[in-house]
Amino acid sequence: LRDKTLQCVKRNGLLTLSVLGVGTGCLLGYMLRGLEMSSQAKIYFSFPGELLMRMLKMLILPLITSSLMSGLSSMESKACCRIGVLTVTYYLWTTFIAVVVGIVLVLIIKPGCGTEVESNRLGGPVMTSADALLDLVRNMIPSNLIEATFQQYQTDLIPLVRAQVGSTKQPSFVYLMPDEENPKGHSVLLELTPSPDIHYKSVPGSSPQMNVLGIVIFSATMGLLLGRMGERGMPLVNVCQCINECVMKIINAAVWYFPFGIIFLVAGKILDMEDPSTLGRKLGWYTVTVLGGLFVHGLVLLPFFYFLLTRKNPFTYIRGLLQAMVIALATSSSSATLPITMKCLLENCRVDRQIARFVLPVGATINMDGTALYEAVAAIFIAQVNEYELDFGQLVTISITATAASIGAAGIPQAGLVTMVIVLTSVGLPPDDITLIVAIDWILDRFRTMINVLGDALAAGIIAHLCRKDFPTGTGVSNVPLTEVP
Ligand code: ASP
Repeated sequence: LRDKTLQCVKRNGLLTLSVLGVGTGCLLGYMLRGLEMSSQAKIYFSFPGELLMRMLKMLILPLITSSLMSGLSSMESKACCRIGVLTVTYYLWTTFIAVVVGIVLVLIIKPGCGTEVESNRLGGPVMTSADALLDLVRNMIPSNLIEATFQQYQTDLIPLVRAQVGSTKQPSFVYLMPDEENPKGHSVLLELTPSPDIHYKSVPGSSPQMNVLGIVIFSATMGLLLGRMGERGMPLVNVCQCINECVMKIINAAVWYFPFGIIFLVAGKILDMEDPSTLGRKLGWYTVTVLGGLFVHGLVLLPFFYFLLTRKNPFTYIRGLLQAMVIALATSSSSATLPITMKCLLENCRVDRQIARFVLPVGATINMDGTALYEAVAAIFIAQVNEYELDFGQLVTISITATAASIGAAGIPQAGLVTMVIVLTSVGLPPDDITLIVAIDWILDRFRTMINVLGDALAAGIIAHLCRKDFPTGTGVSNVPLTEVP
């Protein structure tokens, strides 16, 4: 038995190390919390984790552009169309189902009923749903591609929320802040600080984010056109294939650093975390509702859809994705996890590389089942706290806007918290009330990111199966080694 266990550990070495990294990070973080480190010391301590995030972010741009351009250029127009329609339809469908699961659970559990949590409103709405939806459409068409690689939002409206969270004995304050380096953009900067006077503070590593949606749309269009150009387009297609292969090689090497980086990423976050004992019963139930919903959606419904459509064992498939899910848990970013998800799909799940190259980057940008579920639960929770009765029409509005808001959310940490403004304003709830849930959002974000990543990867498996006839292998799977350029 010992030999078997050792063999299993060896085979799954990287995964085992990553899981150990998460565990060690949690332990280390909790142990060091008592030391009350200065913020400078925390920055030094979290440095290896920051390097991990930087490595992953560095790979996103070359991976997305080269995957989409080379992947789509080699597809037949009919197959392209079919895969595109199937992918978007499947993504919308599963996101909507996730929202329904969230709504049903929050209506049954009613985590916000009672009087324990108080609303901390600071004034009128900071951003309307129309503005947020316009932002989404704006991001689809980046006016400047170079700028799109580092800018997320283009609106002049900056959500600035400041409120007290936690107990009155141990108050802390939370901010959604504009980015100092980029006054035109706003990024999700959450700052918990014991001082109510600080409104702006620069946070290392949280500079403006990439406009992934714009880059996906541009690269997909380029890929489609390159395919139509025949011989003339081949030089660029070859360049993209080479870049793609190099990126995959970098990923293969970088993954061995990840378990080490994860320890400090997780420990650093726990050092910054608010004392969980101040959260109260309602937030506890709210957490249970979100996690319960994510569990039902990610480990029951999505696998069921996978089985229904492919007749294959979903859990064997999910086992191949564990590495990506651990990275999603550690980074809270589906975009940053994208390189690892791609690696898992190609190496462990053996999904056709053309399908993976299209379905994954699109999914990492628009398919966020976990985020949609969370936004619906959070909005209804806030309504319950405010003793605001929602009628059936408003529930339908929440389900539609939560789906749209999740599509608009970037695959970065806590992006869902900002796009939730769309959901809240659509039914007349005060957007400032997101401060009620912000203290535990960082942990929920990790789990919803895992489900976001899982949703994208399962979709790739399903689409590959459904479109298997469009590919010469006839199986929808690829056994081509990673090092071989197709
Ligand atoms: N962190 C999530 C992701 O990257 C987005 C969110 O829900 O905030 O998928």
